[in-house]
Amino acid sequence: MPSSILHVVPRDGGAPVALPVVDLPLPPQWPAIARAKGYEIAARVRDHQHLALRCTRCDTVNLSRVFTLRTAQPLCPNCLLTARAGAAAGAGAEFRRRDPEDTRYAFYGLPCGHEVRRQFGRIARAALRATGLRCDTCQARRLGKEAGRWGWSLHGPDPEGEPRYRLYAHAAGGCGHVQRIARTNMISGRFNCASCGEGWASAGSAIYLMHFDLPDVGPVVKLGFSRNPVSRLDHQLRGQRDLTATLLRVVPMASGRLALCTERRMHAELRATYPEAVVPPAAYDGIIRVGSEVYDAGLQPVIEAMLDRVAAQHL
Ligand SMILES: [Zn+2]
Ligand SMILES: [Zn+2]
Ligand SMILES: [Zn+2]
Repeated sequence: MPSSILHVVPRDGGAPVALPVVDLPLPPQWPAIARAKGYEIAARVRDHQHLALRCTRCDTVNLSRVFTLRTAQPLCPNCLLTARAGAAAGAGAEFRRRDPEDTRYAFYGLPCGHEVRRQFGRIARAALRATGLRCDTCQARRLGKEAGRWGWSLHGPDPEGEPRYRLYAHAAGGCGHVQRIARTNMISGRFNCASCGEGWASAGSAIYLMHFDLPDVGPVVKLGFSRNPVSRLDHQLRGQRDLTATLLRVVPMASGRLALCTERRMHAELRATYPEAVVPPAAYDGIIRVGSEVYDAGLQPVIEAMLDRVAAQHL
C-alpha cells in the first residue's frame, strides 16, 4: 500500500529516506507533548521506538525517537542547518558540510577561497563577536613572506605554545639555525640569529622590482625588499614553474631596517597616488606567492623613477 511509506529526514540531516509507517495507536498525551516542543506527529514510523515529527517552524518531517520526544527537546535537522549556515554567515564564512568523523566539527568556506575545519561552538562565538575566521593557509603564507624578506623561513609553531611566537629557520642562504622569534619582531626585523649573529643592523638588504606575466590577468610588477631578491624570485614568489617572471631592478640598501622603511614609504605613496593600479590579491592568488604590493605593469616607469631617486639617496 503506497500510504504505508513516509519520506522522513534522518536525525542528522541529509536527504529524506522512505520509512514504513507503523500501524500502532498514538497514546493520547503525545500530540500535546509534541506541540509544546514545536512539532506535530506525522506518523509512527520504522518501529515502535520511532516517530516522524513535522517541524512547525519549517515543515520538515524528521525522524525522532519516542524516548527523545518524551524526555528531551528533539532537534529539527533543517532548522539546525539554517542556524549553522546563519552562524557561519555571521562569521563571514560559508557552511559547507558536517565532519562525518566528529559531530562537533564542520567544514567552512572562507572568503579567500580556502576551506577550514572548525568546531560549531567556535563559529557561533566568532559570529557573536563578528571577528571572522582565520585561514591557516593564508596565515602561513603571510608569515612565510614576512620571514622571507629577511632571508628566514617559517619553521613551525612555537614549541612553548606562546601564540605571539613562531619557530623560524635562518634558511635561504643563511646558516640554517632554527630559533623562536616573536612575530612582531619578524615583521620589523628586530632580531638576530643566535647562531651566526646576523641581524637587521648588520645585514645588507635590497629593494627590488619584479615583472610577472600572469595568465588571465596580464603583466604586473611587484615592488618589495629582500636580502636576496634572486632567491626570493626563484623560491618564494614563483607559484607556477612556467610563469614568466623577470627581476627588473635591484637597489642595494645598507640595512634591512632601511629597506623596510623605504619600501613602506614607496607603497604608501603608490597606493595614494595610483589606487587604480593596485592589483587585487584575488587576481594572483595561487600564481605568485605574495600577499599584496602588486601593481599594474603600466606603473613600471613611475616605480623605476622612484627607485632612481632612492638609489641616488643611498649611493
Ligand atoms: Zn525545522
Ligand atoms: Zn585562505
Ligand atoms: Zn644564522
